[in-house]
Amino acid sequence: MMSCLRAVNVRKLYHAGRPDETCALDQVSVTIDAGEVVVLAGPSGSGKTTLLSLLGCMARPTSGEVFLGERSVGRLQEHFLARLRREHFGFVFQQYQLLGGLSVLDNVMLPLYPAGMALSKIRLRAEELLDRFELRDKKHKTIAQLSGGEQQRVAISRALIADPKVLIADEPTAHLDQELAGRLLAHLAELKAEGKTILIASHDPSVINAGLIDRQVLLRHGQLETGER
Ligand code: ADP
Repeated sequence: MMSCLRAVNVRKLYHAGRPDETCALDQVSVTIDAGEVVVLAGPSGSGKTTLLSLLGCMARPTSGEVFLGERSVGRLQEHFLARLRREHFGFVFQQYQLLGGLSVLDNVMLPLYPAGMALSKIRLRAEELLDRFELRDKKHKTIAQLSGGEQQRVAISRALIADPKVLIADEPTAHLDQELAGRLLAHLAELKAEGKTILIASHDPSVINAGLIDRQVLLRHGQLETGER
């Protein structure tokens, strides 16, 4: 199968050369195939978010290589990375990072504005997603008027607006009760069936053991324990 994302011997230092230097990842290699659903597991502080950020072109490794398909992306300048992020990835952040004062609809439409597509088209696509994620009657509310679960579904709708190949979610069940976590997993399973590649960081057993997960990559102290290839 085609490799979609690949990290080769990546190392990530924060505050390099300073007394508080932290090695968040140490010589980690991992390959994610197109269409796979992979969970990055491991205790808090083990490097999950850092590895997500490298594979998702949100940050660059201190050393080592990151590939998006066949393309080496680990040394690209920020504006190139930003473009790759827009074209290839949808992100669902742990704190959702929605714009609280704006409407649900605006939040979902926003990522497509730089693409120069007609607003009417963007709006149609946003409304389809809001229907799909049971938010049809919330579209004119502001984010601040929504529950946590609803905010997360807005965040997922926003992540999908540009129809990315890869969906990246950081601790997606952290703020959900069991029932909402189950609904989230059902939505992710649907996206998997549609062929999305999904990369999730989580230490929640209900995610790690979910039926849709193809493979677990276990991190500990910035190094891989199992699941590596
Ligand atoms: P996880 O997602 O598994 O909790 P992280 O990737 O967030 O792990 O963190 C790995 C290590 O890197 C931790 O020791 C953390 O404190 C450190 N770290 C993460 N982000 C930063 C940062 N921006 N600046 C300094 N240290 C960081």
